[in-house]
Amino acid sequence: MALISCPGCGKQISDSVKTCVHCGRKLTEKDKLKNNIDKNVIVTKSFISKNKKLFKIILPILLAIIVVGIIVYAMWYNSGVQVSRRLAEAAAATLEDTREQLEVLEQKSFDMQEYYYD
Ligand SMILES: [Zn+2]
Repeated sequence: MALISCPGCGKQISDSVKTCVHCGRKLTEKDKLKNNIDKNVIVTKSFISKNKKLFKIILPILLAIIVVGIIVYAMWYNSGVQVSRRLAEAAAATLEDTREQLEVLEQKSFDMQEYYYD
């Protein structure tokens, strides 16, 4: 049992009655159906308008989150690039040290060869 508004007088009546208790108008199934549709339309309209308000609040927050996310990602990506660059520089420095040590060793072995052949 639900309350509907009478199509005759507009007052709230039970949907189980056959005639309106206020104005005596006969209630058909069509009237009840129309009333249900009207109620659904009202509920849907209020739902949409509530969500519009919600959407107006949520949209800027969502945009802010996206923008902050992009900035954080860019910073993270940049720091990753910097770490990679530092690692590459360290590797290059190690390679240079190794090359210098090899040159020293070559020189030593050359000196030793000269020493033996003299
Ligand atoms: Zn009525």
